Amino acid sequence: MQKIAQKELDTLSIQNDYEVKCKICNDKGFVVTTKEDAELVEEREEIITTIIDGPDGTTKKKHTPTGVFNKVYTKKCICKVKSDYMYRLTAGGMSNFINHSFNNFITKFKWQEIFLNSAKDFRKDPTQLFFISGIAGSGKTRLCSTLANYLVYKGYSPEYLLWEREMAEATDNYRAIDFKKFSMWSSIPLLYIDDFLKCMDNDINKLTDLEKRTARAIINARYNNPKLITIISTELTDVQLERIDRSLFSRLKEMATSKYLHFMDPKDTSRDIRHLKFIGEWPTEEIK
Ligand SMILES: [Zn+2]
Repeated sequence: MQKIAQKELDTLSIQNDYEVKCKICNDKGFVVTTKEDAELVEEREEIITTIIDGPDGTTKKKHTPTGVFNKVYTKKCICKVKSDYMYRLTAGGMSNFINHSFNNFITKFKWQEIFLNSAKDFRKDPTQLFFISGIAGSGKTRLCSTLANYLVYKGYSPEYLLWEREMAEATDNYRAIDFKKFSMWSSIPLLYIDDFLKCMDNDINKLTDLEKRTARAIINARYNNPKLITIISTELTDVQLERIDRSLFSRLKEMATSKYLHFMDPKDTSRDIRHLKFIGEWPTEEIK
């Protein structure tokens, strides 16, 4: 990956430099790289360039194809990763996530700062799982989407799994999860699961077998491949998760380690900060 100064990264939101022509790849969308780092191999014809000095004093370049094809190793340029990601967010109705950046993340309370600092630690050296549980309106999605956006600058192309939406879709589809989607969720290098195992009325008895099976299978696959990074937000408490599936919960704990496993007190309703916008203490756009 190209080295970009940390300060520059902090002030970037995805949209800010969207219109700017890419100086890294000259808008080709890919960069030449080493074999180890390559995503695809392309055959390119070798070209001989001859400089011809004309009689009128001008210099011309002549490109002659040699008929010899070379293998070139390329990977997606960061501008392409970014534009693909933005396209997916917009197409998925999540364009409100695009502007979420660490630079415009405002904290009002000590507890927010703790979670924000943890996300900042995680972004430096992302490990298997960043996990945050809290009541609705506590800003978990905001924090997690900020983290996912940031990791684009480390070359990751985040996929979002909006749990409630996907499970509703599966229920409409004769209770089946689309296999293509399922295998993508199991293997994509960076997955953000929003509202993991969301259940009606926050009652875990209302979770279906399909939902539990899917959760278990995705987490198991990602647990078995330590290179994959997962970000999870949920309203479930540690007690609820353990009741749903003890081994699933212990995998999550192992993946996140105590450093990146966060549970807010579910009884502390002051952590629902959505109401603040009504009294003008919080900029409206900060709450999604
Ligand atoms: Zn580029």
